[in-house]
Amino acid sequence: MPLATRADRQTALAQVDPEVAAALQAETARQEQGLELIASENVASSAVREAMGSVLTDKYAEGYPGKRYYGGCENADRVEELAIERACRLFGTRFANVQPHSGAQANMAVYHALLKPGDRLMGLSLADGGHLTHGSPVAFSGQMYDIVSYGLKEDETIDYDGMRKLANEARPKILLSGASAYSREFDFAFIRRVADECGALHMCDMAHYAGLIAGGVYPSPVGHAQVITSTTHKSLRGPRGGILLYDDEELDKPLRMSVFPGLQGGPLMHAIAAKAVAFHEALMPEFKLYAAQVKKNAQALAAALTERGFRIVSGGTDSHLMLVDLRSYGVTGKLAQTVLDSVHITTNRNAIPNDPEKPFVTSGIRLGTPAVTTRGMQEQEMALIAAWVSEALKGREDDIALQSVRAKVKDLCARFPLHSA
Ligand code: PLP
Repeated sequence: MPLATRADRQTALAQVDPEVAAALQAETARQEQGLELIASENVASSAVREAMGSVLTDKYAEGYPGKRYYGGCENADRVEELAIERACRLFGTRFANVQPHSGAQANMAVYHALLKPGDRLMGLSLADGGHLTHGSPVAFSGQMYDIVSYGLKEDETIDYDGMRKLANEARPKILLSGASAYSREFDFAFIRRVADECGALHMCDMAHYAGLIAGGVYPSPVGHAQVITSTTHKSLRGPRGGILLYDDEELDKPLRMSVFPGLQGGPLMHAIAAKAVAFHEALMPEFKLYAAQVKKNAQALAAALTERGFRIVSGGTDSHLMLVDLRSYGVTGKLAQTVLDSVHITTNRNAIPNDPEKPFVTSGIRLGTPAVTTRGMQEQEMALIAAWVSEALKGREDDIALQSVRAKVKDLCARFPLHSA
């Protein structure tokens, strides 16, 4: 988007609502001047953001393309058809539903379509890297369904034998793969075999890995999972939102009905337009290079952190993310997050397997490379970042040390401006 257009919009916003405008300006500066290492965040392109802020925010389009409950939907139809066709092409499925407002909504839509309250759902436990929507007691999934969870082995990789044994005993209706804080590859083919054995449907929530899967550097669940859900904003670098993907025509009606009218009203057509743009971008050859670099950067960051005395959970990463065990530095995840925030390195605290600390404190942080890779950073910058994480945590009570890291972070960010700024 031309800069002038953005500036105009900021001016309009600043005139109408200076308070929100000021917060957005401060957020722009925060993003520009800081290193974003939150594994679930990225930097959407200007084209994606233009679609997101478009006239389609005004449009009601309940229903699906060609079958809407409102008039004037011809452009909404075109946009949604483009998003569907591109999502199917990107991931290689027959069907896509691009209407879920978020990843949680996408998961809820599958459960609502295929389970009855009290039915059994089995996924990776939250403590071992699963997501809240995979059956945590504080989430609707854990309250509505009967949850059994699989976990990790001693080497902090998935305990596939344990999963198989438990699945055959518990006979869940849905066996879920996918995670929020698991850095290794999932064996989707094995999970499908287990699901077939115990009469479950294999659902994959690929939210975290979607960009890597689109870029061909992480195994695809397509062909192994009967239903796939995802967010569109994490490694896939689109707008915030959710999608469903599947091949079986018999699932089409229940899944469509579950999203609308089952759970949602009008689709967010501006977000669907932005999803279409993001899928278009992800279909470009450059996206493959991007995804490969995300993974190379994560591996370089993990190796450099290991050299500096941090322990990486499971010993490394096959994806965009890693869990860092901070105990050798004598800091909790909560403290590390605060110290790193103070030097403009943004992370989130995260429990490590068998974490002795409370979930709000934790012994770990989760780091990811999608956003810094979008800025153009490569392996040599990952080595610098690892050094600064170490310097900041070691010098956490030394203002001069923290000031020095802050200055280096600022310089690096200036060398790699946000492309959408
Ligand atoms: N599924 C997984 C694996 C996630 O990591 C997340 C978000 O972190 C979600 C679902 C939920 O996505 P959203 O925040 O869009 O609801």
